[in-house]
Amino acid sequence: MTDRLRIAVQKKGRLADESFAMLKKCGLNFSVRGDGLLARVKNMPIDLLLVRDDDIPNFVASGACDFGLVGENVFAEEVLASQKIEKDMDIEIVRRLGFSRCRLCLAADEDGSIQSPKDLNGTKIATSYPGVLGAYLKDKAIKAAIVEMKGAVELAPRIDIADAICDLVSSGATLEANGLAPFATILESEAVMIGSGRKLGPNKQAIYDRLLSRIDGVIRSKDSKYIMLNAPREQVEAITKILPGSDAPTIIPLSGNEDLVALQAVCTENVFWQTLEDLKAAGARAILVLPIEKMMN
Ligand code: ATP
Ligand code: ZN
Repeated sequence: MTDRLRIAVQKKGRLADESFAMLKKCGLNFSVRGDGLLARVKNMPIDLLLVRDDDIPNFVASGACDFGLVGENVFAEEVLASQKIEKDMDIEIVRRLGFSRCRLCLAADEDGSIQSPKDLNGTKIATSYPGVLGAYLKDKAIKAAIVEMKGAVELAPRIDIADAICDLVSSGATLEANGLAPFATILESEAVMIGSGRKLGPNKQAIYDRLLSRIDGVIRSKDSKYIMLNAPREQVEAITKILPGSDAPTIIPLSGNEDLVALQAVCTENVFWQTLEDLKAAGARAILVLPIEKMMN
């Protein structure tokens, strides 16, 4: 086996661009061209296997890849589907990545008779997620038939294949265009990095550790901001309390002014206009909010 870490990534689709962007932010230098199956990372011993998202859990479970980037919805579906045929799939989430967020929802005719999960008893539900939906129905003791469809699920009620659907929703526009309304969320999903828990050799482990610490840095710096402001010395405590997700700001004296200090802090949560208004009301002036490009602890 090679000592290059192999990561499965969706080749094309709603996960692909942000997966590539995240890996590039981690400093990986690669290019994805044409219909190639493999992208070699030039500056680290890592290969990206470019595949359909549905294959990613299997590739990781079988050891064809060490890790994979995939939607939590696909991960959950593959794990639950494999349990149904009593084939335990050894994969686990190693990181939640915070992009490609969507919800797996139950939806039905906007003004039909199905308005809540309990109305589903005795109905037919179309979905591409029979594993996740089956587990949900079992948990809620709802007796409904699952009609598995690979795509175009939102058309099922219109062509009388099903009474309701269970499908991914982000803005809801597709549902609306088909006269459907969501009435329950059964899974909140985002992109996740999955692994098999299998032991890596020392070389691969070292590459993995480096990559993971960079991924953590990218995740943390995404919503993080660097805040600089001036404040009356006696207001420092009150101002620190307003700063979202920051501990221990740096306090710097200002030359020629005993009462005023400069305060600098990393905020690990989003800084909104409201936050700036609150800071100003607490006495802060000359407030600057700067993006953070990289972070490592
Ligand atoms: P493939 O050809 O790889 O099988 P696909 O058609 O199954 O692709 P996509 O539509 O590209 O899948 O979606 C991939 C994943 O992106 C989904 O499984 C989900 O996790 C996420 N996703 C789906 N819809 C959205 C959306 N509207 N916004 C953001 N992320 C989404
Ligand atoms: Zn797919």
